Amino acid sequence: MREAAYIALGSNLEEPQRQLQAGFAALARLPDTQLVAQSSLYRSAPVGYANQPDFVNAVAVIHTTLTPRTLLDALLSIERMHGRVREFPNAPRTLDLDLALYGERVINEPGLTVPHPRMHQRAFVLAPLAEIAPDAQVPGHGRVRDLLAAVDVASVSVLKAITT
Ligand code: AMP
Repeated sequence: MREAAYIALGSNLEEPQRQLQAGFAALARLPDTQLVAQSSLYRSAPVGYANQPDFVNAVAVIHTTLTPRTLLDALLSIERMHGRVREFPNAPRTLDLDLALYGERVINEPGLTVPHPRMHQRAFVLAPLAEIAPDAQVPGHGRVRDLLAAVDVASVSVLKAITT
């Protein structure tokens, strides 16, 4: 069955805007998947480990018949192709792709948690997500627009508005 899945993209190394455009293009090339919408690009201050460049963040909506596990494996493989090396938690990264939502499914398996466990608190995910899916439900937490209203958005701003 086809589902709408929401992918959160982030980068703060090696021309982050270019990394995100490459990330969108890679999502559009996934098998059994259509890239339906992409948010504006946002700039956000780093969370967790402050001594690193600002991030560029965005969210994509895809329609896919890939299973959540197959989709996650594909996202990790796109990350690897973009040279991501995980040095330590919250370290700078070339391209980070998180499976934020898969329809309204709740998944708790080894290596796969959906909704992404911290997305409902992260302004850098909620702001771009609210732009393209304000009424989407984050299972267990509520509607995207309400979650965004509850977080501090001071460290997040639009960097490049969508033009399509
Ligand atoms: P991170 O380094 O924060 O990007 O975490 C990547 C790891 O988190 C991967 O090895 C995934 O198996 C795991 N993971 C669990 N749930 C998710 C999810 N919803 N999206 C992306 N990665 C996930």
